[in-house]
Amino acid sequence: MLNVGRLNEGVVLDHIEAGKSMSIYKYLKLDKMDCCVAIIKNAHSNKMGKKDIIKVECPIDELDLDVLGFIDHHITVNIIRDGVIVDKKELTLPKKLVNIISCKNPRCITSIEQGLDQVFLLADEETETYRCKYCEEKYRSSRKKQ
Ligand SMILES: [Zn+2]
Repeated sequence: MLNVGRLNEGVVLDHIEAGKSMSIYKYLKLDKMDCCVAIIKNAHSNKMGKKDIIKVECPIDELDLDVLGFIDHHITVNIIRDGVIVDKKELTLPKKLVNIISCKNPRCITSIEQGLDQVFLLADEETETYRCKYCEEKYRSSRKKQ
């Protein structure tokens, strides 16, 4: 059983925009991992009104936390070891996304060759624009509104 109040080793993701926790669960591939996860939806937040929180108990190295910067870099990442917060990770836009988003270009080699990794590279930090490594198809983060 996961002790929701206290983790031995893992991460607490705080200040998640309310309703986003399930997509983060998927992006972190927590459904495929054999670890304890607690999702708290619509928790009260002074700053945000409502927020989601995810607590994951697992070896920290097994988590690809960089992807969180792509989803929302306002999320607070608390690294827990031996029951205490030892670090807060700063989130930045990752330079490279592997198998996070898929190329929509039907002529792209990743659409033709099924086994190929979907690789996107950060093209413009300002507009949060990524481009497919193979065909340069653009991907704009949906939360950035023009
Ligand atoms: Zn492509």
